[in-house]
Amino acid sequence: MTMSANSHVYLDANATTALDPRVLEAMLPYFTQQFGNPSSKHGGGEAAANAVRRARAQVQKLLGADKPTEIVFNSGGTEGANAAILAALEAAPRRREIIISAVEHPAVLALCAYLEKHKGIRIHVIPVDRHGWLDIDAYRRALSDRVAVVSIMWANNETGVIFPVPELAELAKEVGALFHSDAVQAAGKLPIDLKATEIDMLSLSAHKFHGPKGVGALYVRDSVRFKPQIRGGHQERGRRAGTENVPGIVGLGAAAELAAAHFDDEQTRVRTLRDRLERGILDQVGHAVALGAAAERLPNTSTIAFSFIEAEAAVMLLDRAGIAVSMGSACSAGSFEPSHVLVAMKVPEAALRGAVRFSLSRHNSDADIDRALAAVPGIVAKLRAISPFGAEEGAPVALG
Ligand SMILES: *Cc1c(COP(=O)(O)O)cnc(C)c1O
Repeated sequence: MTMSANSHVYLDANATTALDPRVLEAMLPYFTQQFGNPSSKHGGGEAAANAVRRARAQVQKLLGADKPTEIVFNSGGTEGANAAILAALEAAPRRREIIISAVEHPAVLALCAYLEKHKGIRIHVIPVDRHGWLDIDAYRRALSDRVAVVSIMWANNETGVIFPVPELAELAKEVGALFHSDAVQAAGKLPIDLKATEIDMLSLSAHKFHGPKGVGALYVRDSVRFKPQIRGGHQERGRRAGTENVPGIVGLGAAAELAAAHFDDEQTRVRTLRDRLERGILDQVGHAVALGAAAERLPNTSTIAFSFIEAEAAVMLLDRAGIAVSMGSACSAGSFEPSHVLVAMKVPEAALRGAVRFSLSRHNSDADIDRALAAVPGIVAKLRAISPFGAEEGAPVALG
């Protein structure tokens, strides 16, 4: 029998999280008895519409948005980022430039690469330093009245490094550019109060904070002239047509409310677990460094670059030892390109392919950290012993 995912210690929360049982419970009736279409005028439709309305208020509260109508439900973070950037370009057709950071998620990077190649849009890519800090001077220099939109993430999915997004949004406002933030890793983990900022658009995704997959929201400030990407019915006030994913939206709302109730847990207990894991590994393993540790970071994320190993092999051996983690790089199938985030942070060559991401959630316990600490040092040592790059001391050892 193969080991089920349940017996694993799950330390891959930045990839996705387990559905909170209370979220599932909230969703279930909308798959069965409460199957109405929110646009229908009979009782069943009204019940569904009320459920969507309630979820909208829950997300509004999580984000500190001024009005519930500023929340547009969609399929998640990728759709949100695409919709925001494309809407901004359409709203200001004479502005032909975009500013992003070098460490954005592919949801932003791939769209911008396409826009540059096929639509002649100029993309300014703002670098980060080796701690993961954004180069604010380069950001200021890139800002001008030619910029349609700035899209900079709130927190990085690979390192957890947090950018000063409210301040960046104020600077964008000075040149009349719209500001979007991919807050998929920040929403539900950090307190956000949008009405106190100049942020125009923000995307989030339910499955990164114990909600269901395939549902999320785009915050669109009331003052933004938003052009939809999906046209059809009048759902979401014409900003995202198509019959609402009612069970998913109900799950997103429930997950948002639970996340807000757990902020303190995330900032204290989860942070303590993360710090114990990170310090424990660094104490036991030489030639290893925690990326972004000098910067402000999410409380749940630790990416450790181990010199002289391949992260892919470490992830495989850890999986066999019952511990689920990720490579520090979002590696596409068959490609051994090191992560663009780690390249941007100028991680030394010897460690570039050896970055392992540990990402926790409120579902983790002290026992999980004990199990990880018992497994990681031995696995790194084993991989170094067969490393083709050469072990920490002595001559390189060839693979047998
Ligand atoms: C997961 C993630 C996304 C993509 O969200 P989906 O809902 O899976 O499309 C975008 N940005 C960041 C930072 C992420 O971590």
